[in-house]
Amino acid sequence: MKGQAVISPLEPAMFDTLRSFEPELVEIRRSIHRHPELGFEESRTSDLVAEKLASWGYEVHRGIARTGVVGVLKAGHGNKSLGLRADMDALPIHEATAKPWASQIPNRMHACGHDGHTTMLLGAARYLAQTRNFDGTLNLIFQPAEEALGGAQAMVDAGLFRRFPCDALFGMHNMPGLPVGQFYFRTGAFMASADSLDITIHGKGGHGALPHTTVDPIVVAASITLALQTIVSRNVDTQHAAVITVGSIQAGDVANVVPATALMKLSVRALDRQIRKLLLSRIEDVVRLQAQSFGATATIETRHGTPVLVNDETQTRFAHGVAAKLFGEAKAHYGARPLMGSEDFAYMLDANPNGCYFFIGNGDGEGSCMIHNPGYDFNDGCLTPGAAMWVGLAEDYLKA
Ligand SMILES: [Zn+2]
Ligand SMILES: [Zn+2]
Repeated sequence: MKGQAVISPLEPAMFDTLRSFEPELVEIRRSIHRHPELGFEESRTSDLVAEKLASWGYEVHRGIARTGVVGVLKAGHGNKSLGLRADMDALPIHEATAKPWASQIPNRMHACGHDGHTTMLLGAARYLAQTRNFDGTLNLIFQPAEEALGGAQAMVDAGLFRRFPCDALFGMHNMPGLPVGQFYFRTGAFMASADSLDITIHGKGGHGALPHTTVDPIVVAASITLALQTIVSRNVDTQHAAVITVGSIQAGDVANVVPATALMKLSVRALDRQIRKLLLSRIEDVVRLQAQSFGATATIETRHGTPVLVNDETQTRFAHGVAAKLFGEAKAHYGARPLMGSEDFAYMLDANPNGCYFFIGNGDGEGSCMIHNPGYDFNDGCLTPGAAMWVGLAEDYLKA
């Protein structure tokens, strides 16, 4: 096991117990990995989660946003409540790791490590049920459909925090390229908002030899593409991060015909709610007025995706403190750089802002292959430190 050497067991009894779970956890992780399921289709995975939780004495609630599961455990008489969240879904990627536990389903793969996230939380679940060294209500949230399918919002809409109030809420994700079992925290914006736009340019098609009789949507799309670049460089405050990526332009089939329409697909990201608004409003203006200047028109279809993920300062400092206590200051990093990727947990933090999302390193040697890559695999060396981190958060937040 990688990871054996990297933990500084400042709480030896807890680590010894969690270590004794490791063979079972590795088995669970690899079993989930062999059977990846896409968002809202996690029936086998949620069966496994529900069965384990029930066997350890949790009150199990199923079918929250279809395949979502919440396990509730109470100890003592305290009124405080805590939510810990893991995600369960896989991606439509064909696995290329050739590992013995590789996906058995073509074009389905746990390429984001949600198999590991689910297992780390199960490891903590087993430990906390056995020791019950906390005072209050523990809500373990296993969410479906994290991968751009809105599973977090679906759970919120299904009454997640009404049914299972959480005074504080935490989420953890593995991150390749960072050392195994080290933890990374940031107060405020940590992950970007992500919106998608489909822009259709309506021109006038015709013979490629008679361009003056047409309104060429390809020229319009090209001009818009360049003009869009000025929004980030000229409209956004230079102290703020923003991304406008034109990821696709589709128009025409042959060399001698001017097509009637062109389709552009954009990805738009920001780390600030106001900048997000600014980007979307400027794109609208630039697209419409550029199109108009060529005699064309444009229709814009905006799909609002994940909001900016904003970590609460008190809870971020608290979580960092727990990591520093368990693993030592050198392995608990405060002030991690924000990322322009997005994360569904942002919807849960929007609904229940008193919380924090943080990273656990997946390895900087083996385990450094980036997520969403066919060669990626969750590092089983994270299972014990990840479970320990969840246990530490639960025991310290729900202290008697
Ligand atoms: Zn992912
Ligand atoms: Zn993920």
